[in-house]
Amino acid sequence: MNFDDLLYAVKDVADVATKKTEEVVGISKLKLEVCRVEREIQDLYRKIGQSTYQSRKDSCKNEEYIASLCDRVEDQLEYLDELRKEIADKKDKVICGNCNQQNEKENVYCKRCGSKLK
Ligand SMILES: [Zn+2]
Repeated sequence: MNFDDLLYAVKDVADVATKKTEEVVGISKLKLEVCRVEREIQDLYRKIGQSTYQSRKDSCKNEEYIASLCDRVEDQLEYLDELRKEIADKKDKVICGNCNQQNEKENVYCKRCGSKLK
């Protein structure tokens, strides 16, 4: 190996290391976002419960408000699915559509629940 080859080899290793770091940072950011969205969903559930209680107690009509909260939950749950898929993708895994377990890409069936993976 001459000096130029050595330089290239070192550069390759550095590039791979940088890429790995970027992936880890990317995954961490996604995981943080998952936590944020999960908290928001919990908060929405709490508001839905509170509003339903108020609605019963005071016979006030806040059906529209409750419906809008439910829509928001739906959106956030979908978003959560996308985030989880993105994380799995970055780790070269696939997520089971039935139980959300991460599986190796080459697996045909989920290692937790046995469902067929797409
Ligand atoms: Zn499964």
